[in-house]
Amino acid sequence: MLLDQLGRPLRDLRISVTDRCNLRCTYCMPAEVFGPDYAFLPRSEVLSFEEIERLSRAFVSLGVRKLRITGGEPTLRRDLPELIGRLTAIPGVEDVALTTNGLLLPRLSRDLAAAGLRRVTVSLDSLDPEVFGRMNGLGVSPEKVLDGIDAALQAGMRVKLNTVVQRGVNDTGLREFWLALRDRAVVRFIEFMDVGNHNGWNLDSVVPSREVLARLSADGQGTEFRPLDPAHPGEVAARYTDGAGHEVGMISSVTAPFCGDCTRARVSAVGVLYTCLFSGAGTDLRAPLRAGATDDDLRTLLTRVWSGRRDRYSEERGEATRARPKVEMSHIGG
Ligand code: SAM
Repeated sequence: MLLDQLGRPLRDLRISVTDRCNLRCTYCMPAEVFGPDYAFLPRSEVLSFEEIERLSRAFVSLGVRKLRITGGEPTLRRDLPELIGRLTAIPGVEDVALTTNGLLLPRLSRDLAAAGLRRVTVSLDSLDPEVFGRMNGLGVSPEKVLDGIDAALQAGMRVKLNTVVQRGVNDTGLREFWLALRDRAVVRFIEFMDVGNHNGWNLDSVVPSREVLARLSADGQGTEFRPLDPAHPGEVAARYTDGAGHEVGMISSVTAPFCGDCTRARVSAVGVLYTCLFSGAGTDLRAPLRAGATDDDLRTLLTRVWSGRRDRYSEERGEATRARPKVEMSHIGG
């Protein structure tokens, strides 16, 4: 089995299919930076479906079992269901997932499901129209995302929900948020992370997962959340149950980093391989692909990169590491 320098296998591949997005979330793609004059990638620079499929096959031959399509906003990529169909057909792939803001799911869910997509992760940070509108930078209403979630459910897909919690921004009413959504989706609260270079992150804006859990429990009826076993190895969300059949997940990348279990490789929209969400530099896979590399050449390159991997940014997080430039979330995906 292919292992990195810290003994971690290669199991998951996250592929960003576009750097464009139809929201301007303040913590990810703030409108001041990603405005009308921002130069998004020209189409020729972005990996084609053929290139993504070839790379995915090479990764799968080295141990990857799970593929996640992300972005930018992946549903903006034209003919996305075709890509899903190509990826679900690769022998050895056990799971294909999509991370999306949900806005285009009413239009796309049926085709995505027909192409073999079984589940989606939808991002939604608040049900308060004012708070959500401010956070997404464009005043888009949470109803639009809820319509997307419903469309995915109607198409037979399972839904998980990602909620980034920022102190003083969307950290009131977390219990009500969870109560309103728990029957439609497994809600996972994510600690606000210092990804990218533009979101003004500081530790004070992080609401630790244990605080979120305490707030969910504060219902005056003594509800206690009990930890559940991980659904699968390398699961990043700690899962909890309220004892009445409802689940909630906590992704504590800041207060309880999980680098030791990290089995993820990430490929940006232009085909750069990153071995950590917080990397500043990666390995160009597009150049060899376009220069006629054979499958063996690709496997050799991937093996070299993975076997040399020693990233553990979240465990080392501190002043010095934070000052390093990092890849933008919109290039690498979540
Ligand atoms: N556009 C898609 C979406 O909205 O899900 C996919 C890409 S988005 C970058 C993936 C996930 O990263 C979203 O759930 C988003 O909330 C999360 N994210 C972005 N910046 C983050 C940050 N600084 N800390 C924690 N999560 C973040």
